[in-house]
Amino acid sequence: MQVIVLGSGAGEGIPAIFCECRLCAEARQNKIFHTRSQVLLDGELLIDFPPDTRYRALCTGIDLSKVNNILITHSHSDHCYVADLQMQYARRGDGEPQTPIHVHANRTVCALIDDRQPRDSNLTVHMHKAYETFSAGAFTVTALPATHMPNEECLIWLIEKQGKTVLYATDTGYLQEEILSRLTERGIRLDALIADGTYGTSDFRDGGHMNFGENEKLREQFLLRGIADTNTRFFITHIFHGAARDSATLKKAIPTGYELLCDGYVIEI
Ligand SMILES: [Zn+2]
Ligand SMILES: [Zn+2]
Ligand SMILES: [Zn+2]
Repeated sequence: MQVIVLGSGAGEGIPAIFCECRLCAEARQNKIFHTRSQVLLDGELLIDFPPDTRYRALCTGIDLSKVNNILITHSHSDHCYVADLQMQYARRGDGEPQTPIHVHANRTVCALIDDRQPRDSNLTVHMHKAYETFSAGAFTVTALPATHMPNEECLIWLIEKQGKTVLYATDTGYLQEEILSRLTERGIRLDALIADGTYGTSDFRDGGHMNFGENEKLREQFLLRGIADTNTRFFITHIFHGAARDSATLKKAIPTGYELLCDGYVIEI
């Protein structure tokens, strides 16, 4: 499985538009960016649809016309930019039929998209609840509950294809015990974990994101319970510009066993 990281930053991205903090200034200077988090799996499954989607596709030369399924974690605008989803019509520019796209999401996101969909849209929306397993093209996906917003069932995704398994877990606090026990019961052994590490070295906690201490604890638990082993790769995404005072500090603080994702990173598993 190939995972292309189109975006790896929190809601503001790094650099944040008007910010002069060291992390943002260094990102501008070194051109190492963390736009709003998004990944593309095997060229056909997108996870999340941030406002940077169109521009990232232009910059990278990645052709998103083969995408036939989109998983959306929750309704925050850095993950669900409805205005661009509204532009997806059933007919191509030359009048030929457009590839249908299936969007998988929670009730809130489905309602948001449905409300504003043009009549001749090529999107079909599928509502899912936590612990449901479904097919998305060649992938088998299980929705798991994030800990992120009290008034919305935000989802993280367990993705399986041809014996490879990835857990994409952003916009969540530390994973609920029930998730860990269900993964253990199902005998899941991850090839990769892509985890929210929003707050990095900062002490700030709101329960809806993780910091590096929690990332470290999660890796230990996964290894202890056999959800991961020595072949599992661990990545941090959704990094925030308050995660460290500068890029050297951030780099030094990455928890043992993890790699910090940046835009353009390609994971082959
Ligand atoms: Zn977010
Ligand atoms: Zn900043
Ligand atoms: Zn969010």
